[in-house]
Amino acid sequence: MRLRVLGSAAGGGSPQWNCGCANCAAVRAGHASIEPRTQASAAVSGDGRQWFLLNVSPDIRAQIESFHALHPRRLRDTPIGGAVLTNGDVDACLGLFILREDQPLVLYASEAVERGLREHNALTRTLERRPGQLTWTRLRAGEVVPLVGTAGPSGLTIEPVPVPGTVPLHMKGLAAPSPDDNLALLLRDAHGHSILYAPTTAAPTALLDERARSADAILFDGTFFRDDELTSLGLTTRSARDMAHWPLGGPEGSLGWLAGLPCRRKILTHINNSNPILRTGSPEREALAAAGVEVGFDGLEVEL
Ligand SMILES: [Zn+2]
Repeated sequence: MRLRVLGSAAGGGSPQWNCGCANCAAVRAGHASIEPRTQASAAVSGDGRQWFLLNVSPDIRAQIESFHALHPRRLRDTPIGGAVLTNGDVDACLGLFILREDQPLVLYASEAVERGLREHNALTRTLERRPGQLTWTRLRAGEVVPLVGTAGPSGLTIEPVPVPGTVPLHMKGLAAPSPDDNLALLLRDAHGHSILYAPTTAAPTALLDERARSADAILFDGTFFRDDELTSLGLTTRSARDMAHWPLGGPEGSLGWLAGLPCRRKILTHINNSNPILRTGSPEREALAAAGVEVGFDGLEVEL
């Protein structure tokens, strides 16, 4: 199994178009201590030929161009056989609409995410202009399913693991919260190798801990280092936990949990542009290194 991080930033990317924070300004100025990042997404393959997107970020067009394995092999073609959505956030789904052009795709999503996309969004019809263009496959918590794309079986299975999250901002008041609003994905290949992809997680659970301990590698929510990261900058009144992200630092932070996991690789993704771990040499980045946790970047690969 091969996984490539296409984008490692949280929603908005780094830099974010309307943000002048110290990190975003440093990226724009070309400082060597911080690199630009596109919005969180990954591609995974069991055979090196057919690829599946894990979330489809608003940056998907540039992300496909940045990775040779995703380029067309013929006049009209894509090695992308499908996409898996972990939630219905704009950051996780907006890129789907870039993937129109009458290209067949298999889309894996929970009922809550599918309803948000199909019942509250006329744009989805551009992906369903004719029968067979988009094949919806339902993800149900705990149900292991084979990952099958337009080119057939991938050799991978996927287990959706419900994790604490929230209804997408644009769905507040339209849909009641559901346990399948937000998923982690446990990907497993025929050799028994596994990767847990959990880009957004509001809090720990016993099930998350169990699945993470069983995985060879984990890609985890690195959105915020501190719970008050945005409130201290005066950018919002909502804490990291209010925004359904488990912060890394502090006595109850996710870093302590990650440090104790037996996974061979522990990688942060979905990192907000405000996060001090984005700067090489920062004390927060040093704390990660000491805990054996990697800072994800666009183009990072995991091969098992
Ligand atoms: Zn910023």
